[in-house]
Amino acid sequence: MGCRNRTPSGHNTTVTLTDDQIHEALSSILEHRDRDAPGTVLGAGSDDLGAGLRYLGALVDGGWMVPTWPVEHGGRGATDDEARRISAALGDYGSADLYPYGVGLSLVGPVLRDRGTPEQQDRWLRPIADGSEIWCQMFSEPDAGSDLSNVGTKAVRDGDGWVLTGSKVWTSRGAYSKWGMCLARTDPSLPKHRGLTMFAVDMHDPGIEVRPLVQVNGDRHFTEVFVSEVRVPDAHRIGDLGGGWGITIETLAHERESLGGRVFGGSDGEDGALPGWLAALADSGRLDDPVARDLAMRAFVLGRVNRLTIVRAAATARGGRPGPEGSGTKLRSVAAFKDRAYLVKDLSGAAGMLEDSSGHLAFLTAPSMSIRGGTDEVQRNIVGERVLGLPPEPRVDKGIPYSEIRKGR
Ligand SMILES: Cc1cc2nc3c(=O)[nH]c(=O)nc-3n(C[C@H](O)[C@H](O)[C@H](O)COP(=O)(O)OP(=O)(O)OC[C@H]3O[C@@H](n4cnc5c(N)ncnc54)[C@H](O)[C@@H]3O)c2cc1C
Repeated sequence: MGCRNRTPSGHNTTVTLTDDQIHEALSSILEHRDRDAPGTVLGAGSDDLGAGLRYLGALVDGGWMVPTWPVEHGGRGATDDEARRISAALGDYGSADLYPYGVGLSLVGPVLRDRGTPEQQDRWLRPIADGSEIWCQMFSEPDAGSDLSNVGTKAVRDGDGWVLTGSKVWTSRGAYSKWGMCLARTDPSLPKHRGLTMFAVDMHDPGIEVRPLVQVNGDRHFTEVFVSEVRVPDAHRIGDLGGGWGITIETLAHERESLGGRVFGGSDGEDGALPGWLAALADSGRLDDPVARDLAMRAFVLGRVNRLTIVRAAATARGGRPGPEGSGTKLRSVAAFKDRAYLVKDLSGAAGMLEDSSGHLAFLTAPSMSIRGGTDEVQRNIVGERVLGLPPEPRVDKGIPYSEIRKGR
């Protein structure tokens, strides 16, 4: 392992490692991956907090989970190139389902790293990296989903803090989070995108009520959250007053990158091995049928092309914050996952009607992939407007103060 140096910015960093050195270090703390072990899909069917906590605990001292973060915050001050090599190397070792920790690690952490005050970074980043504090994302509301800037939860100034009141919905991980990254309206007299501010809300405050929502796949980590006069110190405001929309866009870009930049449900058969889902179909004899074989190969090729596109995009990326391209990545990953999940179900015959049949959980989880992190339609709008430069959608409430916009109820 590298010895610690100081960068000109004052952050601790470590000497850049070769791939062999990375593997040597990781193999001393992790087991090699069992390639036949089934992968999980964004926590579907499991809320095992303990496994993730142990995994993050093993990685945090070496800064392996969040390599680009400073050493003092649970990273190792790595360059983007070294971080990519570490991430690839981690794929060779057994891991835990990190779904419960995903908002902190992939959304809030990068935003705090780039936008947080030094005090916020000192307070929140290390507990995210070691898994001791879980975060949830409190953006969506009954009247604010695709049209997220319509958020109505209000934050009213009160001395050196704020009082938040409103309700959030579809808050994944709400039941076991310590902190919520909460978008609230601080100035209703401004047009809707401009009067918003981001806060960190203590989910253990007595004014927070979390009610579980059970999904069709049986998961219970989905919640609605009622916020009743919750006091938040101004020191827990993330970013500038009125700058909440910019923070939101950045957070969602990180979310799309993290949703798109992976192959859901385990390996798609890298290293020439047959992916598990395809091997299972072949073993069942379903692929003896030429039409089924053709459909299976199409799904396999779509998944493989998607993965290679992600690898190519990562190799040409210039670092920095993710942009609208992440919407295309998310669209491709979701399409590949759904295609495969539906095909496996279609080809399972009568056995596919059983709840414990192979691929059943993925089949029930698949539709949600097109909604979470922004719907497919919204991703296409983003690609159309911000990547292809097509004319924007008509926006009838543009420039009108939020308080004067006609509401549905
Ligand atoms: C599994 C899951 C987990 C989630 N986790 C979280 C979370 O942790 N935190 C959080 O804040 N939110 C979360 N969400 C909420 C998610 O972000 C919203 O559901 C999503 O943004 C869509 O909003 P909506 O449900 O209000 O649908 P609407 O916005 O009401 O959309 C309804 C339909 O209209 C279409 N539509 C809307 N506007 C347009 C447009 N301009 N152009 C074309 N079509 C349009 C949509 O594509 C959709 O098909 C989660 C959702 C799911 C399914």
